[in-house]
Amino acid sequence: MNPFEDTVQRLRETFHTGRTRPAEFRAAQLRALGRFLQDNKQLLQEALAQDLKKSAFESEVSEISISQGEINLALKNLQAWMKDEEVPKNLATQLDSAFIRKEPFGLVLIIAPWNYPLNLILMPLVGALAAGNCVVLKPSEISKNTEKALVEVLPRYLDQSCFAVVQGGPEETQQLLEHKFDYIFFTGSSQVGKIIMAAAAKHLTPVTLELGGKNPCYIDDNCDPQTVANRVAWFRYFNTGQTCVAPDYILCSPMMQEKLVPALQSAITRFYGEDPRSSPDLGRIISDKHFQRLRGLLSCGRVAIGGQSDESDRYIAPTVLVDVAETEPVMQEEIFGPILPIMNVRSLDEAVDFINRREKPLALYAFSLSDQVVKQVLARTSSGGFCGNDGFMHLTLSSLPFGGVGASGMGGYHGKFSFDTFSHHRACLLRSAGMEKVYSIRYPPYSPRNVKLLLTAMDTQGFSCTLL
Ligand code: NAD
Repeated sequence: MNPFEDTVQRLRETFHTGRTRPAEFRAAQLRALGRFLQDNKQLLQEALAQDLKKSAFESEVSEISISQGEINLALKNLQAWMKDEEVPKNLATQLDSAFIRKEPFGLVLIIAPWNYPLNLILMPLVGALAAGNCVVLKPSEISKNTEKALVEVLPRYLDQSCFAVVQGGPEETQQLLEHKFDYIFFTGSSQVGKIIMAAAAKHLTPVTLELGGKNPCYIDDNCDPQTVANRVAWFRYFNTGQTCVAPDYILCSPMMQEKLVPALQSAITRFYGEDPRSSPDLGRIISDKHFQRLRGLLSCGRVAIGGQSDESDRYIAPTVLVDVAETEPVMQEEIFGPILPIMNVRSLDEAVDFINRREKPLALYAFSLSDQVVKQVLARTSSGGFCGNDGFMHLTLSSLPFGGVGASGMGGYHGKFSFDTFSHHRACLLRSAGMEKVYSIRYPPYSPRNVKLLLTAMDTQGFSCTLL
């Protein structure tokens, strides 16, 4: 028997009782989620430190506070988001009520990766709960300390009749995917994203896929190298480079590279000291397998900064590579570690060509003192998100959807976008039961006069309410 049979059945039955639909219930679950974060902050920070040697600062900024902010935003706006949205009407429906109802999909599955193991499970959970769904959470088995905290502690806060955390790796996830869900929200690699989508297709389940890829970072000759280096280094080495939206590689001229390398060295030394290994602010690689893969990438091109590694500690120094060929692994696969290759281009046109020859990235960055240059990169490329003159700051705005395009994913979330992602937008028209005489112009026997009247009555564009 499938090990998740009972869980899935229990949650589905709860959904059918309508328990999760009232705003009060949703708000209570969101408040409970907030209490989970507050009561267990230390435990969660310790788990993140054990998994990734994540500093308290990075845990606070990128895992705990950001999730709490999402909860607060949902609580503040829940009533407004849930409200039926009235839509324009035509003459034929003028006396009726036409609106979009945001209704929960039903039973939702959220599958998360290990790199921000709290953020990437709680942020979608906020949207799913706010939208009134029952939820199965599948945290990553690789960030095992955070997984343990989620499995053991989170269920004490949420209503267990409509919510569950399940444990497991690829095999268990595939067993889970044999069940029919009403929505699947997946964050992880593009390879696994394909497996998820194929499993969802068997049940015609809609999906959001938040995937990865290589995020280009174009640096124009016209900019201040030190300012750019500070920003790029922080965003590249944040969470030890294990960030889906981190700048994956730099595109710049050889002239800019000459100024940028010492500026990056200066930024790295200021951030992490002469010996980054002893810095409390630099984390470690999640697992031995990921460490081995990253160490292999250090042999690409030529090491300009860093390059040291220690297997016993899964330490990889903040590294910059130059003289890298496009065909080398470091330019073929998503790096997902503290390694930053620089590729040389002679012009903006060449950079844009380079970017457009590859899969559409999750994020794209352009640095220049000229607005024109930044706007050109924006206009001539495509990516999930874009930030001019900084790293992934666009993510801090819940007013922007977060998600990929093409190979970097489909769908988006954060703030109201999360609520909308986890809601079916139901098209509703409530008609009057009378008026049969007027409505009968649509019935046979058809006549040229009635077709004209009907087309006029159904036109939403040209109709003005002053007629009635
Ligand atoms: P992953 O795809 O290996 O794993 C993600 C989840 O899928 C985990 O819960 C895992 O247990 C499950 N899984 C793994 N293999 C599976 C299989 N064969 N069948 C079914 N389920 C399986 O990803 P990861 O290594 O945990 O995370 C790193 C990747 O995630 C990177 O590519 C990164 O860019 C991407 N990512 C994307 C975002 C985003 O928001 N777009 C955020 C973080 C990470």
